[in-house]
Amino acid sequence: MLTNDKLIDWLTLFADELIANKAYLSDLDSPIGDGDHGVNMARGATFLKEAFSEKQPQNISETLKLTGMTLLSKVGGASGPLYGSAFIEMSKVTEEKLNSEALITNLKNGMAAVGKRGKSTVGEKTMLDVWDPVIKSLEKNELSSEAITTFVDKTKDILATKGRAAFLGDRSIGHIDPGAASSGLLFSTMLKAGVL
Ligand code: ADP
Ligand code: MG
Ligand code: MG
Repeated sequence: MLTNDKLIDWLTLFADELIANKAYLSDLDSPIGDGDHGVNMARGATFLKEAFSEKQPQNISETLKLTGMTLLSKVGGASGPLYGSAFIEMSKVTEEKLNSEALITNLKNGMAAVGKRGKSTVGEKTMLDVWDPVIKSLEKNELSSEAITTFVDKTKDILATKGRAAFLGDRSIGHIDPGAASSGLLFSTMLKAGVL
């Protein structure tokens, strides 16, 4: 069950992982982008932790909205508005808690917001290539951290058709998508926080 306390635990773990993986995520972005994804996300993560302690959001909707607004305004680069849109869309809930079914519906709405904002879909070597199989696994009640790692690794095989990596054409193949890797951290910390 996702309560506000659990949500804050989850997003704080996510922020910590983004900060710990700053160099790794930027390294992934070097061969197929501009080498800043880790720097961008870690910056957003630092502001997010500060925002949680200063503003103390009181319910799921407030917490998700604060997360979306912070990522939107503080993460430089394409990923900021994309993650921002996802969380802002997901903040449109009135419930005090979300059971797994409601959480899955909410994640689907978040994913749709990324696709709308990014004019992107599954199979283009972006974060959506992790969101989609994660949501499908959740529906079957079989998401594991191993599965998440597999989804992230699989983005190596995809030809990029969106974002900076698309400029590389065939040369984008063989590299993990950095946004897919940061989304992998989002979902592995979701499992760790025990929100399901
Ligand atoms: P920038 O490319 O502006 O430097 P980042 O490096 O922070 O931004 O983020 C790059 C990541 O954003 C990519 O790895 C990819 O996952 C994601 N991304 C970029 N464009 C799109 C898009 N149109 N739709 C979905 N995700 C995208
Ligand atoms: Mg980049
Ligand atoms: Mg950039």
